[in-house]
Amino acid sequence: MIAKGQKINDRYEIIRSIGEGGMANVYLAKDIILDRNVAIKILRGDLAGDEKFVRRFQREALSASSLSHPNIVEMYDVGEDNGTYYIVMEYVSGMTLKQLIKKKGALSLSEAIDIMLQITDGIKEAHDSYIIHRDLKPQNILIKDNGEIKITDFGIAMALNSTQLTQTNSVMGSVHYLPPEQASGKGATIKSDIYSMGILFYELLTGKLPFKGDNAVEIALKHMKNDIPSVREANNTIPQSVENIILKATAKNPKNRYETAKDMHEDLLTCLNEDRLNEKKYEFLYPEHDSDSENKKPVLLEDTNKNQDKLVSEDGILDNDDASKNTWIWILSSIFIFIILVLVGIFIIYPKVTEVPDVKIPNVAGMTIQKAEETLKSKGFEVAIKVEHVSDENIAEGLVVKTSPSIGRVVKKGVTITLFESLGNTVYEIEDYTGRNYIEVKTILENQYNLEVTVEKVDVSSDEEYDEQEIIRQDLEVGTKVSKGSKITLYIPKIVDEYPNFVDEAWSIEEIQSFCDQYGVVVTFVPKQSADLAENTIISQSRAAGTPIVSGATLRIVYAVKDEATEEEPTVSDQDN
Ligand code: ADP
Ligand code: MG
Repeated sequence: MIAKGQKINDRYEIIRSIGEGGMANVYLAKDIILDRNVAIKILRGDLAGDEKFVRRFQREALSASSLSHPNIVEMYDVGEDNGTYYIVMEYVSGMTLKQLIKKKGALSLSEAIDIMLQITDGIKEAHDSYIIHRDLKPQNILIKDNGEIKITDFGIAMALNSTQLTQTNSVMGSVHYLPPEQASGKGATIKSDIYSMGILFYELLTGKLPFKGDNAVEIALKHMKNDIPSVREANNTIPQSVENIILKATAKNPKNRYETAKDMHEDLLTCLNEDRLNEKKYEFLYPEHDSDSENKKPVLLEDTNKNQDKLVSEDGILDNDDASKNTWIWILSSIFIFIILVLVGIFIIYPKVTEVPDVKIPNVAGMTIQKAEETLKSKGFEVAIKVEHVSDENIAEGLVVKTSPSIGRVVKKGVTITLFESLGNTVYEIEDYTGRNYIEVKTILENQYNLEVTVEKVDVSSDEEYDEQEIIRQDLEVGTKVSKGSKITLYIPKIVDEYPNFVDEAWSIEEIQSFCDQYGVVVTFVPKQSADLAENTIISQSRAAGTPIVSGATLRIVYAVKDEATEEEPTVSDQDN
């Protein structure tokens, strides 16, 4: 156990414990030489004697240290002090996404998208450097108070081109985020990270995990076989374009997923664009379940037995025990028995009890509800108690428009028929939409009531605080009766929606600051030594020119300073402390 005040290598003084993972403890410490706070990750004492863990630990330092990106935790140092293995990295004050979800539950659409934009950006950088993270989950993603995301724990990351490491590939991340191909024993590719990011997006939007189960095998099986539940069912204001991102990222067949993290990032950038709101549901180009995968079973437990390895996961270490084999036999035999029972049901029992005559549903369109009911009952049908309503220009209010199942279909006698009553021309009374999100309102008005919705951006005075997607006015009064196809215009504030190119356009620090203040962007300025550039020249911006501005977003600007001004590039967290 590491105690407060203890010094590692005479340089890092432990302040307090800040986190625990599967194989290490993480502490806040003070780097005495550089006089700054750092996070120090120390391999657990009981694992320090295990060569495999030591190697993995060192590999983590190696993978991550080659990466430099605002959304990836920066590595400073790695070493060993008397058998204590440690990695020193940037200290991120804030919390993990897991803690955030626990605290807040489901996040708002724009929050979730902003977080995913940063994660996909960081992972793109890792993939570009031939590194797969392999353990993306909310516990390994830190969020600062200003919303900035830092990906950490490259503990089981793998270099794409290193062949000997793929053999000890059985080390897997948390089963909750595990792609089906990895559960069935195939190696990780960049598409594994894409799958995990899709699950993560689902969790951010719903506050829940898509697949739950009592044990790892059950969960892994669900990842392999079950369709991901619809986020739109959990929250119907989520546009189809957003659900499509989840569907595409979490496709069972890796071929149906995004090719790259960059593709996913770009999709996230445009998913709330108006022309994409009524996008069709994502269709898989390739079969989702190839025939031989039907016989596949998760190999994670067996493989780990062989390797005497543990599945590293903060939500429970999956131990290697013999019980897993028994569980397997049990699961497979139950599935077998279940299938037999279903077959017996379908082919033997069902036809016997359902031998009822077929009847054609009579044409009841244009009848009153009462007349239609009588007609249907006289033919031996049941009629659903709840009558649905639809607007229809041709059929007068109060009369039947259609049925479900539809008129003319031949169905079994005794089937329950739902009637649809006409609302005539009137479909809907206009409500007050001001203050609501225009995407949500537009989706409802268009899809549910078939109105034609126009959205217009209007100038607003800068001292009024509006949300980018907030409806500030509408052209129809509250209570107006409208019919199908009626037009309504919603007005939203015109907010400069793209970042300029601060670098090429040679903005000054003050100009950037006031620009950011105006749009509610949280900006951090990071000095960087440079011999050639004039003092205060803008060197880089963390959000590319042309990307849309969302209020509350974070931006990191690196600018030039002359040599002696700083010792080393200070990190943002230094300024936080
Ligand atoms: P493990 O490999 O054992 O899972 P992690 O690297 O995931 O270890 O760290 C465990 C926990 O420590 C994280 O979930 C997080 O709460 C905390 N943590 C890790 N790195 C940092 C950091 N740089 N700054 C602040 N907290 C951190
Ligand atoms: Mg971890």
